[in-house]
Amino acid sequence: MRVAALIVAAGRGTRAGAGLPKQYRPLGGVPLLRHTLAAFCGHPMIDLTLTVIHPDDTALFRTASQGLPKQVAFVPGEASRQASVLAGLEALTAHEPTHVLIHDGARPFVSPTLIDAVLRGLETADGALPALAVIDTLRRDLAGKAGETVSRDGLVRAQTPQGFRFGAILAAHRAAPHDRFTDDAAIAAEAALQTVLVPGAEENFKVTEAQDFIRAERHLSQLRETRTGSGFDVHRFCDGDHVTLCGVTIPHTHGLLGHSDADVGLHSLTDALLGAIGAGDIGDHFPPSDMQWKGATSDIFLAHAGQLVRARGGQINNLDVTLICEAPKIGPHRDAMRQKIAEILQVDVSRVSVKATTTEALGFTGRREGIAAQAIATVLLPLNGD
Ligand code: MG
Repeated sequence: MRVAALIVAAGRGTRAGAGLPKQYRPLGGVPLLRHTLAAFCGHPMIDLTLTVIHPDDTALFRTASQGLPKQVAFVPGEASRQASVLAGLEALTAHEPTHVLIHDGARPFVSPTLIDAVLRGLETADGALPALAVIDTLRRDLAGKAGETVSRDGLVRAQTPQGFRFGAILAAHRAAPHDRFTDDAAIAAEAALQTVLVPGAEENFKVTEAQDFIRAERHLSQLRETRTGSGFDVHRFCDGDHVTLCGVTIPHTHGLLGHSDADVGLHSLTDALLGAIGAGDIGDHFPPSDMQWKGATSDIFLAHAGQLVRARGGQINNLDVTLICEAPKIGPHRDAMRQKIAEILQVDVSRVSVKATTTEALGFTGRREGIAAQAIATVLLPLNGD
């Protein structure tokens, strides 16, 4: 099997409220679509992922997919879902998949178990789709008055991903009348393909309305645990005319001595992030004995720690760093420092705090021998993360 995932995310999603299209609105602090993409990128049976996006959303998509463990390609979509899926299938022909899973971008909680179930269904049929029982009594709405009960017998609720033999669904899509079908199983049925039902999952719901985001946030919080890490660093003053603190160059009577740029702020933040995910310390990842880090700017270290968090499916919740020195004055540079850290880690600046204190002229910082920094980081990791 060579399996492609085709994610359909070209809609405008206006029902979920004003602002960004719903697939790019934040869920757990990152674009909703990122959760969906991560689910497929992280599945060992999925060989490639292609997303159909709205032509206006290229920049949003690049941000949403940045740093995922596998590369995620995209193609521009069309006006209807059906036409968008066909555009995606046509683009996939170059990659010669044997099977394709077609999934709504707005279903962020598709689980590995559900993907497995659809793939198992495909071993014996042209198509497989996850379905759930209809529990509520169905009744006709006669202009606001309760009409007759409609039998639930033989009815299910269809979800995605809907999986198919690639050649079969591509042919069915090419032959289907335009803009008539709301899902791919209907197109498969039109072409007399045999599609089997596999058990769906309630949590694999589609985020459509504004209140679905509240449900999604609540669900997400049950899937993640909070980790914290702390960091501490000191560098001594040496001859020089500036220091670099939290990525910002500040003119000063001295420099800071170090193998890299001696940025105590970014070093302590790097250690805090590494600590939160149990990934050792900055020296493990960037040994001082390695000459390639001589004079390096410390944003490299922090960006690497942020990348490690993302590679584990984690999310940085917030960061707080305290710079400890008598001079230079930190206050005038605080906002620039917060902005710089937020940029390096691709998080919102509201999640970054920079503080400063003196030690009342006591101790080594009080004697102006050097600068210290301590930091704390809070990270949300998937519960199955190691
Ligand atoms: Mg250091």
